[in-house]
This record gives sequence, C-alpha cells and structure tokens, in this order.
Amino acid sequence: MKAHYGYKDGAGDFFIIIDTDKCAGCEDRGCASACPEGVLEIITDDYDDLVAAVVEDHRKKIKYSCAPCKPDRDRAPLPCVAACAPGALTHSW
Ligand code: SF4
Ligand code: SF4
Repeated sequence: MKAHYGYKDGAGDFFIIIDTDKCAGCEDRGCASACPEGVLEIITDDYDDLVAAVVEDHRKKIKYSCAPCKPDRDRAPLPCVAACAPGALTHSW
C-alpha cells in the first residue's frame, strides 16, 4: 500500500509517500533517525508491520518542515531518501 502524508494547495502537491510493502521488510529503518527535523517516525500499522509514517504534527505543514532539506538550488540528496535502501520513501515535490 502507498500511504500519502501531506496536503495539496494552490502552490502544489506536498506529500511524502511511503510504500508500506517495502517498509515491512526494512532492516535498519534509518529514515527516522536520518531526518533532522523529526518528521518521520516508525509505527505499527493495521497489519502489525513496522512502517515509516509522518508525525501527525508535521502533516499539515510538511512543505515547511522539509524546507531546510530543499533549498532552491544546489539541493543535496534528501537525508530520508538517501537513508532508505529499499526505496520506499518518495516526495511529491
Ligand atoms: S528506511 Fe525506508 S523502508 Fe525503511 S522504514 Fe524508512 S521508509 Fe521504510
Ligand atoms: S526532506 Fe528532510 S526534513 Fe523532510 S522528511 Fe526528509 S530528511 Fe526529514
């Protein structure tokens, strides 16, 4: 399943998308510890799998929470994406 966390407004779509099928087999779950803003956490989903999710407080302001990782130019690889070896985590913007 693909879980979408975020929102859409006049400026665009701002979602972090988690492929929970890939998460369920993840060994190190490094995304959460790699995020300098505390945006990600590991939860137990409805299928009793440990998966990544966006912390509730960040879901309605995710564009701003992630802004430090997303300068307009010379953007380095996103720490959360770089830490995710299974390729389960993507951003819509
Ligand atoms: S590192 Fe990737 S696969 Fe592992 S828990 Fe985080 S998002 Fe899921
Ligand atoms: S882009 Fe940066 S702030 Fe946003 S989830 Fe990834 S590591 Fe955290």
